[in-house]
Amino acid sequence: MHELSLAESVTNTIKSLCAQSGWAKVRRVVIKVGHMRQVDPELLAFAFGIAGKGTVMENADLSIMELPIILKCKACGKTSDCESMVFICPNCGNANVDVLSGMELAIESMEVEAV
Ligand SMILES: [Zn+2]
Repeated sequence: MHELSLAESVTNTIKSLCAQSGWAKVRRVVIKVGHMRQVDPELLAFAFGIAGKGTVMENADLSIMELPIILKCKACGKTSDCESMVFICPNCGNANVDVLSGMELAIESMEVEAV
């Protein structure tokens, strides 16, 4: 399950942020994940439970925002949401598209307790 390695890398980022800033505990964290990451939000939440055990992240309230894949067609210039993993412009059928969004894996916001 690749969710665990994603959760571990995000948890490590949060841990070092907390260490640098002197935060004792993370109360709430919002993670945004692009649809191209093919992450199962339930599995990811479960993975955070494992990765965060014994850390500042333990018992943090976790929200996962899923972001759609957004394509920009190089032929007609139209941007569109992409539901599947097929990267074709729904407007003109061209496969020559840029992926504008969908690869995100980032901390959107967090609420912490200072020492
Ligand atoms: Zn197009």
